[in-house]
Order: sequence, then C-alpha cells, then structure tokens
Amino acid sequence: MNKKKNILSMILAVIVSAGFSQTNVVPPPKETSKDSTKSETIGARESKHPAAQTRYDCRKTDETIIIDGKLDEDAWRRAPIMPFVGITDESKPPFITEARMLWDDKYLYAGYYFEEPDIRAYWGMEDANCPDELKTALAALGRPRRAADIMAGKRDAWDYPECTIMTVERFGKLFLDPDGDGANYLEFQCNPLNNYFDAWYKQGYCYDSEGKYKSRNRYPSVEWKCPGLLSATWIDGTLNAPQDVDRGWSIEMAIPWTSLAPLTKGSCPPASGDIWGAHLGRVYRDRIGGENEYWVWPFLAIKNCHLPETYGQLVFTNDLRRFERFFVWGRAGEDESYARRLAELGVTDVVGGTPSSNAASIFASAGINRFQVVTLNVKGWEKKYPDKPPAVQKMTEAEVAALDMIKGAQTTHRPSAVKEGEADEPPDWNMTERQKKSIEGMGRANYKFQSRYHWGGEAEGKHWRGKNTEVLAYEVLCFNTPEVKELVKDRISEALAAPGVKGVAFDGIGYQNYHACYCPLCEKLFNEYCEKEKKDPKQGAARDEFSLKCLVDFYNEMVDFAKSLKADAVTVNHIWPVFMPEPLYGNRLKIDFCGQTAAWYSFWDPWRIEKYSRIITADQDKYHQGVKGAAFIGYYDSPLFPVKTPAKVESELRAILRGGSTCLMMCGLEDMMKNDEIALVFKKFCRHPAPAGKGGGKK
Ligand SMILES: [Zn+2]
Repeated sequence: MNKKKNILSMILAVIVSAGFSQTNVVPPPKETSKDSTKSETIGARESKHPAAQTRYDCRKTDETIIIDGKLDEDAWRRAPIMPFVGITDESKPPFITEARMLWDDKYLYAGYYFEEPDIRAYWGMEDANCPDELKTALAALGRPRRAADIMAGKRDAWDYPECTIMTVERFGKLFLDPDGDGANYLEFQCNPLNNYFDAWYKQGYCYDSEGKYKSRNRYPSVEWKCPGLLSATWIDGTLNAPQDVDRGWSIEMAIPWTSLAPLTKGSCPPASGDIWGAHLGRVYRDRIGGENEYWVWPFLAIKNCHLPETYGQLVFTNDLRRFERFFVWGRAGEDESYARRLAELGVTDVVGGTPSSNAASIFASAGINRFQVVTLNVKGWEKKYPDKPPAVQKMTEAEVAALDMIKGAQTTHRPSAVKEGEADEPPDWNMTERQKKSIEGMGRANYKFQSRYHWGGEAEGKHWRGKNTEVLAYEVLCFNTPEVKELVKDRISEALAAPGVKGVAFDGIGYQNYHACYCPLCEKLFNEYCEKEKKDPKQGAARDEFSLKCLVDFYNEMVDFAKSLKADAVTVNHIWPVFMPEPLYGNRLKIDFCGQTAAWYSFWDPWRIEKYSRIITADQDKYHQGVKGAAFIGYYDSPLFPVKTPAKVESELRAILRGGSTCLMMCGLEDMMKNDEIALVFKKFCRHPAPAGKGGGKK
C-alpha cells in the first residue's frame, strides 16, 4: 500500500506540474507494473490493458481529406470510433466525445467531434477582445506570476502563451508515440479557435525498481513546432454566446509523416501492421480555469498522460483495393491514341468494336484484350430462316398490356413507386445517430430520381396493379428453341473468327419479362419438367426453377460450344436482363468473367452496391471453379437515366471495392471517354499500368 501512496503523490505532483487542477482521489493502476526499468524503452506493446480495449484500427484512405474542421469525408464516416471515457473512472462522458484516425501517404489524420451546448474559447481572440473574465480568471488561478507573465509575454518552459490552453480552455488532445517505443513522444492540444499547443518529450514517466513512480529524461520541448501541421476546427453553434444552445465542435488535423520521421525507428509512413502508441483526450471545464473533466481513449486508470506504456495501440492497416481488371463495353474503332488512352486509364479489356485485323493489332500493342458481342436479338433471323417466323419469347397477356402502357413513358423519369420503408437499411458503420439519419435521408432522396421503368438493372416488379409485370421493350429470342441455339452458335463462330479477339461476350441473354417464356415449346417443356420432377406446375416456384435451369443450361451449352471451337477462348458476359427472383444468378454460369450488376445506371444506394459486390465476389467459386465475378457499373450520359456526377461514380466504385470485387465492368465506354472527370475517377481505382496482354479467367 505504501508503494501505491507514493505513486499517488507522484501522480498528483505530475498533474499539478502539467497544469491540471485535480483534487480527486486517484485510484492506483489496475496492476502494478513489472520491472520496466530493465528495458530502456517503454513500449506501447506492453500496455497493461487488454488489447481489445486499446487497439485502434487506423485505416489507410485514398480519399482527399480537406482540412476544414468538418469531418464530412466518407473516410471519416467509415473509420471506427475511439470511444472516450473518464480517465480515472471509465465513466461515460455526458456529451458525445469521440475521435477517429486515418492515414495516407502524406499524413496521419485525427478527427474529433465534441458535443457541447455552450462553446467557449479565449486563446486566440484578439487582445482587444480578450474578455476581462479571462484576465480575472487567470489572476484567480493562484499563480499571479504566470498570469502576469503570460499577459506580458514573458516565457519560461511552461509559460509560453500556448500553455494558457491547459489552465483556461476546453480542448482536444493527442499524444502520439511514433513507433510505440515510449520515447520521443508528442503532445498536441487544440481549442475551438484552432490554436495549438504542441510539444516534444524525450521520454515519459516510468516506475523505478521499487515500483515508485518517477520522471525520467522527459526534456519537454515546448519550443518544438510540428513542421507542416495542418489543422482546422468547425464550430456548430455560436462561440462565447451563453444565451443560446450550441451543438458541438470538431477538430480535423493532419500531421505530415515528414515531421514524424525523425522521431521513429521504423518506417515512416508506417507499414501496414505497424503499431504506434496514441492517447487522445478531451478536457472540459464549466468555466475559465475551473476544474476539468478529462475524457480519454484509451482508459488510463490514472490521471497522467505521460506514461506512454499506457497508451493505446494505433495499428496501421492498409486494405485499399484496386481493380485488377477493367472491362469496358462500347465501340472501339481503329484508333491508336484512343487505345493508348484506354490503357492509361487502366482498361484491360474492351467488349465490342471493329472486328478488323488493323484494330486487332492496335489493341494488342496497347495491351488490351478484345471481345466480340453475341446476343439473343432477332436481327439476322430471317437471313438464316427466311421461311420461318422468328421464335421470340412469349409473355403473358397482362405483361403485353403492361408493356404497351409503359412504352410511351420509356424515356421519362417518373417518380419511383418505391416507398420509403422499402429502402435498404444502411449497415452500422459506427456512425452517430445523426450521421445515420442523414445517410438514410440521402437514400430516400436517391429513390426520387429512379424511374419506375429502368431497363432491367434489377426489375422493380410488383408495381403495376400489384403484379410482377415489368417487361423489356424489345423482343428476345426463345433460347429453348433449337433454331435459336443454332443461330447463337453461328454468332459465336463468327465472333471467334474475328481477327485478334480473345473470346466472346454474351449480352441480352435472359427473359424479356425477367422470369419465363410462355411460348408453346416452353410450356410443353415445363409440363414435362414438372411431371419428371413431381412438381405442381401451378406453383410459381416450379416455374422459377424451370426457367432458371433453362437459362443456366443454355448459357453453359454456349460456353462449351465456344471452347470446343477454340480451347483458349475466354467468355465474358453481362447479366442482363436479370432473372427474377434471383438477380445475381451469374455465379451458376461457367462464364470466365461473369459481369453482374453491382451499380446500375439509375442510382443505387451505396450499401446495396457493397452488398451486391460482396455476393458477386464471395460466391464466384460456389458452383464452378475458376469463374471470376465482375462487378458491373452503368454510366450513361443520356436522358434515359439521371447522369451520375464524378462524386457519385467515385462513391459507387468505393462501395464495389469495399464489397471485395477487384474485377470491374462498365458500360458505356463512349460516355465515359467524353467526360475527362469521369474517366479520371475510373483511372483512380484501377491498377496501373494495365497488365499487358494478360487474358483468360481460368488458370
Ligand atoms: Zn419459349
């Protein structure tokens, strides 16, 4: 117990010397430290607290963080929260008190949000505006010399004007121990007026061999100024106006790695997995110079911030992903500079374009694969079968009637019939309630832009007189018909015969009404199927199963055919029209690069895009080995759809990457290329340079 008392008195001495007015009885540390004098350094790795409490996943970001005090970047929203608690009692702060950290190649970022009903700040106000209240309070601190010296501009180690912050202000704190060795650590403090105190310390306090608490080689340097530090604060309310109620304030800071490098033994910027020590805090006092509350991350159990061994572990992670493969659908002609530009953007594969040997050599030298498109459209039928009417798919009478009514409205944006409650719920990204509400609102707003009829990214269905009657506006051949299979095989042969092509790309393969064909042949086959499988043909599920089986069998038969013609032919597709009720059925296909819609032309919400991307990638090996799921994103600059801004495209690509897809597919190429800003967004997320000449999805 004696030991503990000694520790206590030391702690109190520290607190006073550091400028805190602390009279609470401080509980001793939870455990007595083991003999830490043996090692020269005190590592954050040896923290006394369970790792689960003290580790923070500091994520790398590639989003531009604008240091304006507002934590409005997407990266902040997704960063985990550091929950602050009372420094000695682990109590929950009465106001929202939280921080987040991030990093990129240039900076380490810290962002704080402090709820505060009456935001106050004095240091940094013009002298003329320095309130008498402040002068009186400084004098009342019982250290008139210090107050007077501060006013007179006199200095010693702790009488720098910026030290005023500790006795007067409410502020945010950051202690940073680069490389986590307990030596060479830094302290930053910032008030709502973005005025900084920063200092360097050679070494923190430690316990001696008798378990006593001692200062060792601290050598604080208040003169140290962090070179290149960027910081800003944002006040959500009115400063120094007690008559109203404020909401809070935030700090956004960026510490350049170049200023930290001299203080680290390891790499700087750190490598993924490196651990540094960090301690963050919020000092709150109800009046100038009043007693302070101190809320911190992590929980320290003692009121001393100069024990780097108790700091939390800042674990640097880097899970930034890039698209390894980028397929674009569009017309690519015989244009050398165009092909080069596509390669610069990260395009690895072009679907569609002139089937000439000149085009083949141009794209080959740019390192881009080319694919010829094969569809199920009626065009070309009469050439092969001049005496037979085209075997088009047949829809129900209700669907035909619905199609006629919808046709007139194809190019207009009707208000969506989707109701608010039908919007996907955003996942919990450790967001505050306020942030969640704002995101939900955004999601609802997005639905306003969706047309009811949106061309098959995913059938909305059940919006027409309560029936699932959504239909495509063009005729599709019935692929159960033998003549259609022969026609499609002809198309595959022709596509593979084009000079320099890597393979075929299937498009427009599916049901015109998204779920079935009701032609006499399909009805006959369906009844046979039900008899054989002992299913009730009146049950919708039987129809769904049969339709899906037909679709998958047809696709796989065509893939086998292509491979029989050319063993190294690569197959690609875009699932469109989708199949309801299983829009992401593509993993059932033997397609090498199966493009499934993750972000349609109309606006989908980011959490839905992320979810779809996850399914596209995680399930790619579920049915066939070697199949690669490609997340498809639609971008058109046309009146058919709301035109996406670069920011919207960026947010969609980020959501796709978060979902895990590293193979991207987009349409349409021409619209992307006519807008530099859009093209650069795609470039930003693609691996560079494009892997030249690599093809084939199967090893
Ligand atoms: Zn049919």
